[in-house]
Amino acid sequence: SLFSTLSETLADVAQPQQRVSVLLPMPFKGPFDYLSPPDITLNPGDIVLVPLGRRQKTGVVWETSSDLPPDLAPPAEQKDRTDTSRLKEVAELLELPPLSADLRRFIDWVAAYTLTPPGMVMAMTLRLHMHGVTSAGTGWLPADTIPADLRMTPARQKVLDLLRKGLPQTTTDISAATGVSAGVVKGLADARALRAIKLEPECPVEAPDPGYRLPVLEAEQARATTALRQSVEKGGFSVTLLEGVTGSGKTEIYLEAIAACIEQGKQALILLPEIALSAQWTERFIRRFGVAPAIWHSDTGQRMRRLTWHATANGNASVVVGARSALFLPFEKLGLIVIDEEHETLYKQEEGVIYNARDMAIVRARLVQCPTVLVSATPSLETLVNVQSGRYRHLMLPSRHGGATMPETRIIDMRVHPPERGRFISPALTEELSATLARQEQAMLFLNRRGYAPLTLCRACGHRMECPHCTAWLVEHRARKRLCCHYCEYFEPVPVTCPACHEENTLTSIGPGIERITEEAHELFPDARILVMASDTLTSPTAITEAVTRISNREIDLIIGTQVVAKGWHFPYLTLVGIVDADLGLSGGDLRAGERTFQLLHQVAGRAGRASAPGRVLLQSYTPEHPVMSALLSGSQDRFMAQEAMQRQPGFWPPYGRLAALIISCEDAAKADAVANAFGRMAPYGEGIQVLGPTPAPVAVLRNRHRRRLLLRTKRTIALQPILHRWLDMVKPDRNVRIDIDIDPVSF
Ligand code: ADP
Ligand code: ZN
Repeated sequence: SLFSTLSETLADVAQPQQRVSVLLPMPFKGPFDYLSPPDITLNPGDIVLVPLGRRQKTGVVWETSSDLPPDLAPPAEQKDRTDTSRLKEVAELLELPPLSADLRRFIDWVAAYTLTPPGMVMAMTLRLHMHGVTSAGTGWLPADTIPADLRMTPARQKVLDLLRKGLPQTTTDISAATGVSAGVVKGLADARALRAIKLEPECPVEAPDPGYRLPVLEAEQARATTALRQSVEKGGFSVTLLEGVTGSGKTEIYLEAIAACIEQGKQALILLPEIALSAQWTERFIRRFGVAPAIWHSDTGQRMRRLTWHATANGNASVVVGARSALFLPFEKLGLIVIDEEHETLYKQEEGVIYNARDMAIVRARLVQCPTVLVSATPSLETLVNVQSGRYRHLMLPSRHGGATMPETRIIDMRVHPPERGRFISPALTEELSATLARQEQAMLFLNRRGYAPLTLCRACGHRMECPHCTAWLVEHRARKRLCCHYCEYFEPVPVTCPACHEENTLTSIGPGIERITEEAHELFPDARILVMASDTLTSPTAITEAVTRISNREIDLIIGTQVVAKGWHFPYLTLVGIVDADLGLSGGDLRAGERTFQLLHQVAGRAGRASAPGRVLLQSYTPEHPVMSALLSGSQDRFMAQEAMQRQPGFWPPYGRLAALIISCEDAAKADAVANAFGRMAPYGEGIQVLGPTPAPVAVLRNRHRRRLLLRTKRTIALQPILHRWLDMVKPDRNVRIDIDIDPVSF
């Protein structure tokens, strides 16, 4: 009736267009204001297309982050919110599931904690599936009435014939089926000969069956399982440390927590430090649940990623296993987060948004109110301190499953029993290796260094081959006949003459990398079947799976590897692990080096003797009295960790205090120094606040940029972020100087 249309019109007039703030996946300080389209009501979390300059951008309708703790809330921006006349309109509301309030709060939290523009954090949620956001979910059917003036071509006819069969199809599928280009489909759509149908994203995985194959648990395992199941069933926020030596059944137990989560109809997120190495993990999951989990990492294809994103958002994916970025997926009903190998420094993302996925996972769990399980054989000191203070619950598995014993560990004092000149495997280790191989058991040599030699030196003039772009020696990779920088992509052919004194054949390789150890092993054991496992020899998941299969099939006698071998592999026939240089990584003055070396070597040692045959571990060391060596020898980390704690407590180093690193970098060294010194002069001070530096950053020149570092350390009770905000405001460097903030740096 006339009256109702009139009243609707009046209502329209009376109701001004809504003003909405839209966060864009870009490095702006915060969201931008837009006007909602006249006929659409927008809600926080809606994913929209907005004009920005001449382009359109995908963004998310945001809301103010007033519920952040005051010390984390970004400084309020003053702006005039009354004038809407110059605001642009939101172009389109995309048909995507909106980002939930808890995810938006999480993004705000991470942004505030890491001092990163919130849009850059949000980009981790959106960027990954933005390609095809508008078209991929669209299927086509013929329009109800084909416009009479449509110009028909054979290609157009083909498309219409296909679609008249009644199944809506995407542009990609149409192209694949008919051979016509995407342009033809678009032409038909533009001519209104097609109508768009929103396709429900398919679920990339079948639902896992929590009862598919139930394990028979040992008493200790059953106790831990019950405890974890209870926290999952009860729901609510909690953190549990699940600790136990390698092989004690930790994975077995958290798979039960996942089962409980699935039974609750909720979603579980499992973070692994290195997803590319997780083939064995996936197999294990399939054995337990009958189907594969959804997998999320940077190498999965676009289509798969889009499906996983949608399946996460609509709740179809009940288990997602992923690398750290999986933390930013839009889970519909997250019920559990598991962080395997929680001590791994790989959880720290060092580029872009600098954050620690383990710590942020706990934040996310708190925001959605779900339990978290931290899993490790060698928990980090931070986690242990949280256990001691009662913030985290502790579940401990004391022994290996099925009575398998811990490997017997011995140290070879290299000062007393040195290897022959030019060799790196000592006679004692050689003897053990031969005995092991003679028994037809497998052995492993571990050295955490890729390539042939870490240093190439001229015997005549002492010149060292260095990267022209970084403060780093060039590492010889003999198989590829190159000297490579391990910090940037630079490489050069191994020169014949010394570039400094021009003498011929005077360049000498100093020290071992695994290529050199492999060469030595071939000489020592010419009949042994040797496999090298390093990130540059195993470059794809397939290569890794193949290597692991060959080891499991006993086609390999000796494995030689870098830290790749330290991951949670299960090699039942491996009984001897030789650590070529146990001291590697301990020098350099990093306060956390001891803890990290202990964790790594313990992990490597844990590969030995996981089945019925007992394992042995030999550590070659020039510092056998070092606390790390005694801890590895005794297998007891409590005392070692207590010592670590004692070193860090007095100076309130983490975890007893808070720490942030300010990295100032510039191609111009003088400028870098000037800015670093300016920050030094403006350093905040006060009770419980301390600034160290500026000093050259650990890698003083990286990709031609000179880097300086200042450390800000505070007592636990003092938040770093507001201090950092004020400090950063005091120095205004020019555009060529970059400032990176690293909250909770991995090394200090
Ligand atoms: P962790 O994660 O602590 O290294 P796992 O869960 O991988 O230990 O267990 C080590 C090995 O022992 C695996 O092969 C696992 O399948 C097996 N295992 C552990 N507990 C049991 C059990 N209760 N029944 C059967 N096999 C088990
Ligand atoms: Zn370099």
